Amino acid sequence: MDTPLSRVVGPKTAKVMAEQLALHTVRDLLRHYPRRYARRGEMTRLGDLEVGDRVTVLAQVKKVSSRPMRQRRGILTEVTVGDGAGSMRLVFFNSKHAHLAVGEWGLFAGTVGKWHGDLQFTHPDCHVITGDDDDWARALVPIYPASKDVSSWVIQKSVKLLMDDPRSLAEALDDPIPEPVRDRHGLVALATALLYKHRPESAAQVEFADERLKWDEALVLQATLAARRRAAALEPGIARPRRSGGLLDAVDAALPFSLTGGQRDVGEELAAELSEEQPMNRLLQGEVGSGKTVVALRAMAQVVDAGGQAALLAPTEVLAAQHARSLAAILGPLGRAGELDGDPAGTRVVLLTGSQKAAARREARAAVADGSAGIVVGTHALLQEDVEFADLGLVVVDEQHRFGVEQRDALRAKGARPPHVLVMTATPIPRTVAMTVYGDLETSTLRQLPAGRGGVSSAVVPAGEKPAWLDRAWQRVREEVAAGRQAYVVCPRIGDVEGGSGKDEDGPDDADAPPPETGGSSDRRPPLAVLDVAEALRAGPLSSLRVEVLHGRMAPEDKEARMRAFAAGEVDVLVATTVVEVGVDVPNATVMVVMDADRFGVSQLHQLRGRVARGQHAGLCLLVTEAPTSSATGQRLTAVAATTDGFELARLDLETRREGDVLGAAQSGRRSGVRLLSLLDDEQLIAEARVEATRLVEAGRGLADHPELAAAVAALSLDERAEYLEKA
Ligand code: ADP
Ligand code: MG
Repeated sequence: MDTPLSRVVGPKTAKVMAEQLALHTVRDLLRHYPRRYARRGEMTRLGDLEVGDRVTVLAQVKKVSSRPMRQRRGILTEVTVGDGAGSMRLVFFNSKHAHLAVGEWGLFAGTVGKWHGDLQFTHPDCHVITGDDDDWARALVPIYPASKDVSSWVIQKSVKLLMDDPRSLAEALDDPIPEPVRDRHGLVALATALLYKHRPESAAQVEFADERLKWDEALVLQATLAARRRAAALEPGIARPRRSGGLLDAVDAALPFSLTGGQRDVGEELAAELSEEQPMNRLLQGEVGSGKTVVALRAMAQVVDAGGQAALLAPTEVLAAQHARSLAAILGPLGRAGELDGDPAGTRVVLLTGSQKAAARREARAAVADGSAGIVVGTHALLQEDVEFADLGLVVVDEQHRFGVEQRDALRAKGARPPHVLVMTATPIPRTVAMTVYGDLETSTLRQLPAGRGGVSSAVVPAGEKPAWLDRAWQRVREEVAAGRQAYVVCPRIGDVEGGSGKDEDGPDDADAPPPETGGSSDRRPPLAVLDVAEALRAGPLSSLRVEVLHGRMAPEDKEARMRAFAAGEVDVLVATTVVEVGVDVPNATVMVVMDADRFGVSQLHQLRGRVARGQHAGLCLLVTEAPTSSATGQRLTAVAATTDGFELARLDLETRREGDVLGAAQSGRRSGVRLLSLLDDEQLIAEARVEATRLVEAGRGLADHPELAAAVAALSLDERAEYLEKA
């Protein structure tokens, strides 16, 4: 399997295959699956094709005619091909394909064009299926993902070389799925599956192959996760049992509200797990506004009471600062131990972020290292090597969709023994994603929102079709402000970047921002920008209001000050980027206007909307777009506006994002290990694979008893694994 391709296909082809398709070994080639299969009779569907589509058709040459061209020198050859169901024309100028002969079958690949109303290919790639090739007789001809210099048929020929001797192929292949598992689920052997996939004789064979090859992917992935869980379970941490009369009791006494039933239940679950030596590894899902922060704070307090430190990791500096501020507020003197007015029985809350001044950072680091800071709030900066904890007992990760497995590991490694880990997310996670991306965590859910919430309603404002609606939106903002409330206006871009340099889109600090869903067309106007929109609002519809901006290019202390001013009600309207996306908590804000809403992802919009559903007043979220209501984009926004059911939205999100983004960069040609598995369609299969993988890993010597599976797990390099575990 590890044989270099140069030994199979010759050095020249091997070189371009490596360069253009990242195919290096026999294994790579065997796992380079056909994208689809051409079959006779397909040309009936040619009518559905649009000019500009790139397609391959399997057809027979019906007619060839050549004549000299009138306008210039040379020969024009017209070839009509058909498959019994339809026909089309191929056109060649001075081409050797003038040699196509009537009766020959071939694969013709080209870009669809039109000539006098008829579909045609100009200079298509042709691959005549010759008599000594048995492929033409097959019902299905595999069409491979190809590249500039490696055509589908070169790949097909190369694969054929590997397949010609099925017996020796079967011997060379190590099947990662143990036989009992195959038997239980009716899966064909690996060699059979590859044969069916690359040289199918029927559609049913392709189905058998797909089922089996998806199992490979799911089982290897689940075995990786099960092995993680087992390893984590074997490495004891430190028990942090509850102690009365400490910080936790003080927090409970200081809370201005009583906990919801859900907060209490999850709290007890966490308290019990923290009291065990086995490190907790838990994912807390809870709708936006369900009150996860308090749950986390109480867990942190328990750990501090037991003598350990707790770290709270936030995706943005704005959110980190807000957390530090609100924790400090709840703790009061108990959060200022060591200061003049502090309570010596308490602890210190310190903030540690990347953009802090060197002196502040040094001081914070010292407090973390000597243990005087029991609670440390920060961004990715916490992950850096120079940050050392005296005794890290609990790591809380807020809004997990921005932190992957590797980062959790980096924080875990900061304890002498593995700390307890609590991951929080408001983005509901479909079951398949929970089983894959977060498959190493146990899950708790907060379903209930605190009582007395006004709720949020949403509407799409089609500014392109109905400009008057936008005026009405600004009027609503004025009305809310007149009633004493506040508003957000969110834009996709900061704006005003000279020469395109500098940061113009806000994402989580130090991490890649999720690609805005632009639909890929570059001829659209650039997305609306915070600076421009703020100016236009001040000069126009909101001239009577106090309008300020907030974005990631502002200095951290300015951001902090701006956020404080907004929270204090000194600003009416905050025009911002997605820096306000997660977790920002200003209960008096009741309207959000999202400009160019189509440029945001579904979960992003749901998160954003969560900013205006936090108090007792009803919230309103207006999604402004120029996309027509009937377009796919318009429909997506309508769907977001129509429901606040996070789980339904998560599913919609999965559907609209390319799945490759979630499970791995399958399309990009990188070897991500996941090619066929679909998070949308294969829930059942993933669940079954999870059961089998857990059984295999936890019985006996675990993976050591299954060397073939172990090899497949190891073959996913750390990078690749990280890649598909982290894309969420
Ligand atoms: P999220 O789960 O989205 O992170 P937060 O923890 O930010 O939500 O809480 C949202 C708001 O609800 C905050 O203002 C918080 O103080 C408030 N809150 C939390 N728990 C309760 C409760 N039990 N009763 C009333 N308000 C609560
Ligand atoms: Mg939160």
